[in-house]
Order: sequence, then C-alpha cells, then structure tokens
Amino acid sequence: KEATPLNFIEHIIEEDLRTGYKKDQLRFRFPPEPNGYLHIGHASSICLNFGLGLKYNAPVNLRFDDTNPAKEEQEFVDAIKRDIHWLGFEWSEERYASDYFQQLYDWAVQMVNDGKAYVDSQTSEHIAEQKGTPNTPGKPSPYRDRPIEENLELLEKMKNGETKEGEHVLRAKINMESPNMLMRDPVMYRTVNRAHHRTGTDWKIFPMYDWTHGESDYIEQVSHSFCTLEFLPHRELYDWFLDQVVDQEKLRPKQREFARRNLSHTVVSKRKLAELVANGVVNGWDDPRMPTISGLRRRGYTPESIKNFAESIGVGKRENLIDVSHLEFNIREDLNKKVPRIMVVLDPVKLIIDNYPEGKTEMLDAENNPEDDNAGFRKLPFSRELLIEREDFLEEANRKFFRLTIGKEVRLKNAYIIKGESVVKDADGNITEIHCTYDPDSKSGSGSEASLRKVKGTLHWVSAAHAVPVEVRLYDRLFTEASPDTIKDRDFMEFVNPESLTIVTGYSEPSITCAKAEDKFQFQRLGYFVVDKDTSAEKIIFNRTVPLRDSWAK
Ligand code: ATP
Ligand code: MG
Ligand code: MG
Repeated sequence: KEATPLNFIEHIIEEDLRTGYKKDQLRFRFPPEPNGYLHIGHASSICLNFGLGLKYNAPVNLRFDDTNPAKEEQEFVDAIKRDIHWLGFEWSEERYASDYFQQLYDWAVQMVNDGKAYVDSQTSEHIAEQKGTPNTPGKPSPYRDRPIEENLELLEKMKNGETKEGEHVLRAKINMESPNMLMRDPVMYRTVNRAHHRTGTDWKIFPMYDWTHGESDYIEQVSHSFCTLEFLPHRELYDWFLDQVVDQEKLRPKQREFARRNLSHTVVSKRKLAELVANGVVNGWDDPRMPTISGLRRRGYTPESIKNFAESIGVGKRENLIDVSHLEFNIREDLNKKVPRIMVVLDPVKLIIDNYPEGKTEMLDAENNPEDDNAGFRKLPFSRELLIEREDFLEEANRKFFRLTIGKEVRLKNAYIIKGESVVKDADGNITEIHCTYDPDSKSGSGSEASLRKVKGTLHWVSAAHAVPVEVRLYDRLFTEASPDTIKDRDFMEFVNPESLTIVTGYSEPSITCAKAEDKFQFQRLGYFVVDKDTSAEKIIFNRTVPLRDSWAK
C-alpha cells in the first residue's frame, strides 16, 4: 500500500518527535461540551484525534468540557459516548473538566496570592466597555488593585454561593493594553446559581473555557491539544495560563489549530441544531434530516461512510464548505458493496399480463447483491397482476424513453420480457390499468435464446397480491440554501426547506417482512433505504438514505 503523505498536523507531531518529544509522551484528547449531540463536524475532529491515537499508538482521552451548568445535561454525555463508540473508536480515559474544579480553584487562589488575579465587581457590560477596541487600549477596572486579602475573601464567598449571580467575577491580571483583546484581563470565573449535572450544588463558581481547557490538558498531560481555527487568538492566553501553573518536570501541552469543517445545506453548530429541535422543525436530535451522528445513523449512514468522508476531506488550514453530495457519494460507495437489493414500488399503477394464467403464482430466483458473490438468492413471487411505477409507463414516448410504452418491449427484473398492449382509464383520464403480454420463453436466467434477447429497459415490479405495504419517508435537504447561516441580515431558520420530508406508502416484495430497525437495502432503481426505529409489527417504516444517483447533479 502506498504511504499517504503526512498532513500538517502530523508534520507538527513528527517535528516534535525529532526535536525532543518521546513517542510515549504523545497523548491526545477529544473535548466535547455536553450541550448537544455530536454532528458531522465533530466527526472530523474525532477522526483526527482518535486517528492520531491509532497511528502513534498513543492514548486519547474523552474529556467532557462541562463548565456551564446552564446548558449541559447527562443526556448529552450519554449520546456523545454512544456516538463515538458507534463510529468505532475507543477512548483511554473518560474525563470531565468538572473533575478538576478543586484543582483549578486552588490554582486560582494561588494566582490571587501572587497578584495575578482579582475579583471585579462591575457588571459584564461595564467590563466589556472598558476592554476598548483592538486599536485603542482598554481601561483598567477600578477593582484591579483590590487588596489580596479582600480578593481572597470575595472569591471564597463566590465559591460558597454567598454572593449574587453576576455580582462578581474573577479576572486574570494580564495586560489591558494588549493588542490581543483576549489578554485584556480575561474572566476566569463567574457564579452560576444552578445545579451541575455532575457536581450538583457543590460548586457555585464555574471556570471559563480558556481557564479550564489548557489546565485540563496539563492535568491529563495531553501533548497536543488540537482545536478549531477560531481558537488561534486564544493560544496566547492558553500559554499564559499554563505559565502560571506548569511544573518544569512535566510535559507542557501545546494548542494547535485546524479548520472547522462545514457541510452544505445544513448547519453544523450544536446551538443551531438545538434551535431546530426546540422549535419542532425536526423530530429530535436523531431526526434523519439532522447532520448529527445519530441522525445520520438513523438515516442509514454507516460508520465507515462517515470515516471515509472525514478522511477524504482531510484536515486543512482554511475553512471551507464541503458539498453534501460528497457525503452522499461515500454512503453510496459503501452500501453498494454491502446491502441486499429488493424491489419496492413507491407510486404504483397496476400492470396486467393478459396471456399469463389467472390464479398462478410462480416463484422466481432473484440475486441479492450482484456486487457480493456470497449474498445468494431469494425467492420472488410472480403472478398475472403486478404493480410498477407510474412514471415507468407512457402511452406514447419518444425513442429515448427506455421504459414501457404501447407496442414496445421491456424486461421485468428477474422475470420476463413484456410488451405494452393497452390501457384502461377512469373518467378523469387517469390510467388505472396497463395491459401487456409476456414472452413465456424469456425468463431471466433460463439460458434460452429468448431470455438472452436484448431489450432497452428493465423495470422493477412487485406482485400485487403478494406486495407488503410499507411506509417510506423520503428526505430532502433540510435547507434550501447551501450556507443558510452565513447569509447577511437573515436568520438561518428562514431557509428551512418546507419539503424536506415526504411520506408515501410503498409496496414491497414479501421478503421484507422480517426486516428490523437499521437493516439496510437498495430498492432497485430507486436508492438506499434503512428500516427506521419506529417500525412495529403492524408497520414497517423505511427512511430513504440517499437516491441512487445525485438528482441535484444536473
Ligand atoms: P458547536 O458550535 O457545534 O457547539 P463546538 O466547537 O463548540 O461546536 P465542542 O463540543 O466544543 O463544540 O467541540 C469538540 C471538538 O470538536 C472541538 O475540538 C471542536 O473544535 C471540534 N469541532 C466542533 N465543530 C467542528 C467542525 N465543524 N469541524 C471540525 N471540528 C469541529
Ligand atoms: Mg467548544
Ligand atoms: Mg459550542
């Protein structure tokens, strides 16, 4: 196998290995905030971090960045773990930033003692105002030189919940004139009067992201902390906070950045996805229209298709929008090799074979998967009255129409060659029956001369008397715009596609009756479909994963 060239993240690691890091010092982490379900963007970060772990045989921690009790829930923790496992990755240790609340607090107290942090008692609006602009220096807070003793006392009170929410914050004392706005005395702690999903009411102060992340990396001795590009300006602060606590004997983590991955015709932000759920635009986080891992799973995506997708787009230094057709390509590739074919008619019209004996049922052999020699054959009932797709018939058609017309021949898949003869219509002129004749010598696979005859079209069909009605949920893009959340002065919710879901009754060949949730099929000539979890003994429900061809391509 050809060696794939290193990406820039791997170059950073290789360089570090050349200049002093030992291989067994490498350690990575994936750090989700449990404030929603993982989405396809997270899949990129998961594949990156866990992929590095596999490549360098290094541990990868799953660390929940759980510092905001107002937004985080156990449900999200559970879902995140389930999704990472489903993708096929194993973490070394399950960690929580909240495990480090005491250590972080002790370090903060030490910083106050060292004159490196102070309690500010202004409103957040005031603090923001004094920060200035990148081109003008900020103004120091009137509390900046508060005596150490007073700071310690107030911090203790904040911690014990003896102050009001928002009354005080703890700020690092860095530089109010720094060209990097994040260095202008950033907030380290705020008080939140709410139970946390793990620490309950033990803590009333909660550390901010910047104060938490690098220190957590340090505690876990993570060597490389990879995050998305918007954190580039945070790196200086990450390093400053580490300077306050790092012991020379220990490994000092480094933050490096890669580009966020965006997918077209959707939104990849937990906050925005939460809005879709809260407003009932979709039916929950795992709605098959959602770009969440659990939504994609329910839609019929496989872990391999998602990992192949992440690998094919790779890691980059510049943000870009990946067209969703790229993701769809990967699932078609994967399912084509793996899943059995069946015949299902979604918009039926009756086809009657006038010269086929009435009351006769014949069991035909149908190949399950031409791409897989081990997939075998199944039995398929054939009879005088069949159902075919309404759009597969035209009374009169031009020469490019390779489906059924009056006077022309087509093959019925796995069955016989038929010829269109006549139609029956209702009072409104709608076709209710198509009549045809069949060539009894043309049976597929019989080897007869007639069976080898070339005809232009092949249609899928089901035997009307044997067909099983199934519910089929046809999904389209969730948004009508490629990048709905970047359109000036408009809210992404305005671009929700009102036709993202169409529900129809389909008629399946009877082999389907034992299908269970998550079973996947190719409905011949139509696309890939998966059995939905809502399926019951009374009703089989399918989700369309993706049509066979990209209908948007032209
Ligand atoms: P969101 O805005 O959806 O909440 P986030 O970055 O705040 O995203 P986290 O839970 O903090 O979500 O993300 C965990 C990790 O996944 C982080 O390292 C983050 O940078 C990475 N990540 C999140 N979204 C993407 C994306 N679209 N592409 C690549 N990596 C991502
Ligand atoms: Mg985050
Ligand atoms: Mg977020």
